Amino acid sequence: MNVYDSNRMADIMHKVGYHTVNESHNADMVILNTCHIREQASEKLFSELGRFRKVKSKREAEGATMIIAVAGCVAQAAGNEIIKRAPYVDIILGPQTYHRLPEMVAEVSRSKRKNKDSQVVDLEFPKKTKFDYLPKASVAGPSAFLSIQEGCDKFCTFCVVPYTRGAEYSRSIESILDEAKQLIESGTKEITLLGQNVNAYHGLKEHSTRKQEFGLGYLIRRIAEINGLKRLRYITSHPKDMNDDLISAHGEVELLMPFLHLPVQSGSDQVLERMNRQHKVKDYILVVEKLLSARPELRLSSDFIVGFPGESDVDFEATISLIREVKFLQAYSFKFSPRPGTPGATLENQIPNNIKDSRLALLQDILLGHQSEFNKSSIGKTVPVLFDRRGRVDGQLLGRTKFMQPVHANLDDNYMGQVSQVTIDTATSNSLGGSVTK
Ligand code: SF4
Repeated sequence: MNVYDSNRMADIMHKVGYHTVNESHNADMVILNTCHIREQASEKLFSELGRFRKVKSKREAEGATMIIAVAGCVAQAAGNEIIKRAPYVDIILGPQTYHRLPEMVAEVSRSKRKNKDSQVVDLEFPKKTKFDYLPKASVAGPSAFLSIQEGCDKFCTFCVVPYTRGAEYSRSIESILDEAKQLIESGTKEITLLGQNVNAYHGLKEHSTRKQEFGLGYLIRRIAEINGLKRLRYITSHPKDMNDDLISAHGEVELLMPFLHLPVQSGSDQVLERMNRQHKVKDYILVVEKLLSARPELRLSSDFIVGFPGESDVDFEATISLIREVKFLQAYSFKFSPRPGTPGATLENQIPNNIKDSRLALLQDILLGHQSEFNKSSIGKTVPVLFDRRGRVDGQLLGRTKFMQPVHANLDDNYMGQVSQVTIDTATSNSLGGSVTK
């Protein structure tokens, strides 16, 4: 989501004459787009800001200027702290107001011309959303993100998203189809639909007189009809919102890739309840069974939080059995760390760090084993790969299989943006290598 937002901020600023540069010392403006999911996000921000403060001072000593903006979820959650601790920051804006960046920059520039220092702060959740104002997305490359939904009403007890991104909001069907068409016309072959709770999507048709809402299954079928699109994915889903229509779409729409990220967080009902996840383990398994019956080749990845307050050895064992049962191919797994302002931060029975460490190591070891086994089972197979970037070595391209496995092959740029049949001949736990079958 932050990659998408950063690209959209670049699009907005391009419209008013800015262009992107690679080095901060050449920059008239630096935007730090921040994410609050990882631990100590605000400390990392202040350390980065310290670095940019020096660059700004140097530029000012040379007679140039530099506007520093902090955007995203840390700005939303820690705006007041930034005002106090980093008065040299010019603009503080939340994830829902970045369409107003040009006005904020104009205001700061006016103040600077009058030799006045002022901070512009915009942490509003406006009624009319940014999607109503954003310019058309710029060329995005063979694989692109498309934001369809934002915010969340679930309030899991460990998560800051409902506070930083606000309430659930879905874009209209037409505006998403327009953006998808435009991406595909510009050469995009794979679109990943984005949302904090993407399968809670419930969009209206813009010009319909009836206020009927349509879910993600419907939207996927509509996007898949656009000529030129080769692959479709969506992220991040909640098990509770995996409705039957969406599950059927996995069986019907061939472009929808058979690899789904479906966070479960824990394999223990007690822990899920304390997390306020609003589903039980058996509900999750039922969804997986339905998905596999709709699309037998489908494989899953997930999210796990290890050491949530009160997690016993038995709870943790239940998570391990779920991982073995579903055979997740990948996962984002982290030790629980309290986020200020969330109910989970003040729960009793916090788990000591050494226990979290050993549980996490065990869990990651098992997951790595699954990934490695799956990658090795690809050797000798010929699989479709979408090449979307250059490799680290000259003459090498990098792409992804349907299951998101990275694949490298020695190829020229003519293969960039193409789905090619690749025979896999090497596999590590992280990636595959092969050559294009003529
Ligand atoms: S559903 Fe996802 S985004 Fe929403 S509160 Fe839970 S973890 Fe956060």
